[in-house]
Amino acid sequence: MEMKAPRGVRDILPDESWKWSYVINIAAKAMADYGFSEVHLPIFEHTELFSRGVGETTDIVEKEMYTFEDKGGRSITLRPEATAGMVRAALENNLCAQGSDAKLWCFGPMFRHERPQKGRYRQFYQVDCEHLGCAGAANDVEIIDLAAEIFRRLGLKNLEAVINSVGCPKCRPVYREALIKYFNNYKDKLCETCLDRLDRNPLRILDCKKPDCGAVADGAPDIYNSLCDECREHFEEVKRGLERLGIAYKINKRLVRGLDYYTKTAFEILSGDLGAQNAVCGGGRYDNLSDSIGGPHLPSVGFACGVDRIILVMEQQGLSFGERPKAKVYVAALDNSARGEAQILTHKLRSAGIAAQCDTENKSFKSQLKAAGNAKFACILGPDEIKNKVVTLKDMADGSQVSISDNELIDYIKDKLK
Ligand SMILES: [Zn+2]
Ligand SMILES: [Zn+2]
Repeated sequence: MEMKAPRGVRDILPDESWKWSYVINIAAKAMADYGFSEVHLPIFEHTELFSRGVGETTDIVEKEMYTFEDKGGRSITLRPEATAGMVRAALENNLCAQGSDAKLWCFGPMFRHERPQKGRYRQFYQVDCEHLGCAGAANDVEIIDLAAEIFRRLGLKNLEAVINSVGCPKCRPVYREALIKYFNNYKDKLCETCLDRLDRNPLRILDCKKPDCGAVADGAPDIYNSLCDECREHFEEVKRGLERLGIAYKINKRLVRGLDYYTKTAFEILSGDLGAQNAVCGGGRYDNLSDSIGGPHLPSVGFACGVDRIILVMEQQGLSFGERPKAKVYVAALDNSARGEAQILTHKLRSAGIAAQCDTENKSFKSQLKAAGNAKFACILGPDEIKNKVVTLKDMADGSQVSISDNELIDYIKDKLK
């Protein structure tokens, strides 16, 4: 039987992977410019980290986690998101001791058991960026600016930040009650999922994508009327900060995001033409995540962006991924006597940092030259060249040939490739 990958996962192959490198390198440079350092974290954690950190009543924890018992009888979960693990790592390694902050980012796979569809996989990849141990609104502004900066550098069109405040444990219960009271009047219009959420997590009804629920949600009470003074002032400061930096934003009172840990600021970055906007990134402030996993109070703000989605959107917008890396030089052996020398020369070119290929399957000179068509130069080696310690260098673009001595070859090619 031929083995196939499980449903909902895929292979990122060479035709695509070079685009991934491009996107991740651009994001990495932007995050470094903003003072963030890369970390590598485990892809599995104790299940409790997510049930307590992300929230028992979220879709992620209720339905979407890959959870299993390991051979030691512990309940283990493949991370469905990166923030909880990031906070766990910072606490465990004392990165935020004595009131210091930590700016961290990571890249890697996340796992959710969702219905697979275009652009959505059960193993998907995120760049995740977190500023841990920071309370002021200026940090929210900085993190939104950084997210937007990454997409500006990638060339995404018509960027817009969408922001909201989801309140805090002081003021959210008031809003919750107002929502339950309101939605109770429209029980006949809500979908089954929303009915189920009504008492446990009514905020989530606000971001239901079903049109009927959306119509009801549009008339729901405004959270801004319920915010406490601290949350209201924080939200005003975020708006003023974004305006200072010239970052276009919209307020969407229905933006609550699917994770319970958000407090105060929630945001998404959208890109595209009006009517066909795509969320390429989402994030927000999560002042109580650390408390909920047993740590000290650690106000923090961050975002995650899905790389699968970014690449899809960049392709839709016809954006450049830079130049696909390929061999610059192909070393062709004119006959069998030159094959050994051809491999030695290929090794020398590679050691000098020049991407080079040669034939290792005893192919004819003709088919070697055909393969060389993908390179910028072909180095041709035959008995005459070897005897005279030269190489015939053929420019594959115009077919011109020059004879160059062995010891000048590498500098010559490097110069030409500049
Ligand atoms: Zn509040
Ligand atoms: Zn619904």
